[in-house]
Amino acid sequence: MFPGNDQLVACPHCARPARHSTLLSGNTIGVRIWTDGKQLAPMSPETPPIAICLGCEKPFWLSPAKKLGQLDLDSGEDGIIDINPDWMDAEHVEEPTCDEYHRAIHSGFAKTVDEERTIRILAWWRENDPHRDDSPSVSLQTATGNRRKNLEALLHLLGETNLGEQMMRAEILRHLGEFDQSRTLLSKMENSPFAPVIRQLRILCDARDVSVRELFLVAD
Ligand SMILES: [Zn+2]
Repeated sequence: MFPGNDQLVACPHCARPARHSTLLSGNTIGVRIWTDGKQLAPMSPETPPIAICLGCEKPFWLSPAKKLGQLDLDSGEDGIIDINPDWMDAEHVEEPTCDEYHRAIHSGFAKTVDEERTIRILAWWRENDPHRDDSPSVSLQTATGNRRKNLEALLHLLGETNLGEQMMRAEILRHLGEFDQSRTLLSKMENSPFAPVIRQLRILCDARDVSVRELFLVAD
């Protein structure tokens, strides 16, 4: 893994500088994948596309945020590339919490269907994060409240033709406790390239398990 320069961006709400890591190159060694579609590759860490400003505490998209400059961590002060020295202490951006994601969704943060789909998936993943290493004997309760509303809305933002989106729809139905509907959807994908994953999702439906689980990626 080769980390890139740290990027400094300005919060679009209050102009406070914030800093985030970049990656020059990475690989998928040690990658872990869960049933909700989230992947974590230790040798290819990703910065979430939405950050919370540590000044005004409002969320913003990192990609279109105004770029202020870069910092080459390996070169110390020599690595300061065209940035105001006052920004050297800029804090690293933080991913929104579950509540911050939900507040952003309700405040109309997403301006397009693609943005809404993205933030609703990120909110779902964030809620699942504390449970990614749960023991198989620990099972969550069926989604309620904001979590349920988010999943029901996300269900309608996913298409019926794209295989990845169909798998995500089946997984959302499982998290909602709609096991029969999930199984019906999964049965349509049994002969797809993702058959080994489909089988694992079916087993979870049969067990009436609504928890996120790690996928075991073995050759079919
Ligand atoms: Zn701000």
